[in-house]
Amino acid sequence: MIIEDVQFRVVFDSRGNKTVEAEIFTTSSYGSAMAPSGASVGKDEAVVVDVSNLPEIGKKIRDELIGMDVSDQITIDEVLRNLDGTDNFSNIGGNFAIATSLAVAKAAADGFGLPLFTYLGGIYANQLPYPLGNVIGGGAHAMDSTDIQEFLIIPVGAESFFEAVQINSAVHQELKNIFKKKGIFAGKGDEGAWAASINDELAFELLSEAIDQVVESTGVDVRIGVDIAASSLWNGSEYVYRDKKLTPEEQIEHITNLAEKYELLYIEDPFHEDDFEGFVELNKRVKCMVCGDDLFVTNVKRIKKGIEMGAANSVLIKPNQIGTLTDTFKAISLAKENDYKIIVSHRSGETTDDTIAHLSVAFNAVLIKTGVVGGERIAKLNELIRIEEYLDHPRMIHI
Ligand code: PGA
Ligand code: ZN
Repeated sequence: MIIEDVQFRVVFDSRGNKTVEAEIFTTSSYGSAMAPSGASVGKDEAVVVDVSNLPEIGKKIRDELIGMDVSDQITIDEVLRNLDGTDNFSNIGGNFAIATSLAVAKAAADGFGLPLFTYLGGIYANQLPYPLGNVIGGGAHAMDSTDIQEFLIIPVGAESFFEAVQINSAVHQELKNIFKKKGIFAGKGDEGAWAASINDELAFELLSEAIDQVVESTGVDVRIGVDIAASSLWNGSEYVYRDKKLTPEEQIEHITNLAEKYELLYIEDPFHEDDFEGFVELNKRVKCMVCGDDLFVTNVKRIKKGIEMGAANSVLIKPNQIGTLTDTFKAISLAKENDYKIIVSHRSGETTDDTIAHLSVAFNAVLIKTGVVGGERIAKLNELIRIEEYLDHPRMIHI
C-alpha cells in the first residue's frame, strides 16, 4: 500500500471557520480526515497554522510521503515531525499534521479491509465508551452564559451505547422544557449545549431537575460531570466568576463542595493549566474522575509530570493537541500504564469527521466527549452506534 498522492483542501468547521482536510491515495486504498479546532486552547497545544499556507505546506508533505508505505504509521508520523522541526508543529501546523496522520491510518485500515478501530485496537477493541454529553455550557463556548464551560452528563446506567445516546438526548430535551417553563431564554453554544444567562448554581439546579425527570421516566441512572476550563477564568491571581472572585485556595474549596453537593462523577480542568499543585490537592479530596485537558494537552511530558505528582486520575485525549496519531498513542499508553482513565474528546470547532469514535473504541476509552446534538457531534455518536452493531459481543466499558 504505497502512497501515490496526498491532497489537501480547505473546508469549514462547525463555527464556520476554515480548516484543512487531507486525502491519502495509495495503490489500493484511500483515507481522508479533517482537523478540528479549539476555542479554549491550552498554551502548550500543537499550533494551528493558517490554511492560506496550504499550497506550500501541502507540497512539503506530499513530497515526503509519496512512495512511503501507508501501514508504516510510526515512520510517517516521524517524517511529519522532522519536516516540521519544532516541538509544537509551528511550521507545518498541528492542523495539517493531524489531518495527514489520521488520513494515513484510515488509508491503511481501508487497505487491510478493516474498520479503523480494529486496525488500531485489534481484537480487544470490543467495548463501547459512555458518551460524556455537554448539555449546558458557557465560558469560551457561548456569550453571556455560565462561568463553568461545560455541564456534562454520563448515563452510567445505560446498558448499550444506543441507550446511552438516547438518555443524553432526553436530558438535553428535558432542559429545553425546563427553560421554557421557567421563562428563561436559552440559545445554544458552540457544542450544542444550552446557553443561558444564568449562574452556575442555577445551572446545576436545572440540570438536576432534568436528570430527575429522565431517571424517573426511564429508570436509567445519570451522573453529572463538569469541565471548568479554569484557565479561562484565571486572571493571573484569582478565578473570576460573574458573581465572585476566588483565590486558588477558595477555588479548591468551591470545587470540593460542588463535587459533594452534586455527587460529581467527572471534573475536568478545575484549575488553570499550570496549577499542578491545585490538581494534586483536589485529587486527594474527591473520589471522582479528575481529568486534565489544558493541563495535559495530550502531551507525554505534561502527563508524566502529572503522574509523578498525583495530579489526576484521568486524561483528556485530543489528537489535534499533539499533532500525530503516534504521539496520541504514546500519551494514551503512558496514561494507561499508570491506571489513568482515557477520555477521547472532540473540539468545540468540529467537522463531521468521525475518527475519534474509532479511537475511543481502539484505545478502550471509558468516555467519549462529543456533545449531544448537532450534526458534527451526532456524526461521532452515530458511528459508535454502527460500531456497536458491527461487534459480535458489544458491551459497555466498566467506568
Ligand atoms: P475547546 O474546548 O475545544 O474549545 O478547546 C473543549 C474543552 O475544553 O474540553
Ligand atoms: Zn476542557
